[in-house]
Amino acid sequence: MAETERSIFSRIIAGEIPADVVYDSERLIAFRDIAPQAPVHLLIVPKTEQYRDVVELAAGDPGLLAELVATAKKLADEHSDGDFRLIFNTGEGAGQTVFHVHAHILSANDRGSTLEEGRLAQL
Ligand code: AMP
Repeated sequence: MAETERSIFSRIIAGEIPADVVYDSERLIAFRDIAPQAPVHLLIVPKTEQYRDVVELAAGDPGLLAELVATAKKLADEHSDGDFRLIFNTGEGAGQTVFHVHAHILSANDRGSTLEEGRLAQL
């Protein structure tokens, strides 16, 4: 793939752009969103840039999607009280801006506080 076509997430994975990385494994990376929309706002991203969105990922590698979801839970346990919202913006009309599949992990950061429902529409 040409340099200009690589996603910003591929450049973070390659270490070309700095990010606040909170998880790094063979197939996944997670880092803090640069423009947080909730007290805890992480992005979890498959390292492969083969899949544009979650529909392609589910069809092409359901095991990797399951690993992503399990890792999102682990990160929510580590960074908040374990409750979280997992969002895959899918398509421009739904607000997707980076066409390298990723999930937003949104969470309140302490026990007893609740994520505002309105956050759903802001992403
Ligand atoms: P989406 O709109 O679902 O495609 O999500 C893309 C997300 O990537 C947005 O929430 C951006 O704030 C976030 N983002 C873009 N560039 C960076 C970056 N360099 N580091 C961390 N997050 C980023």
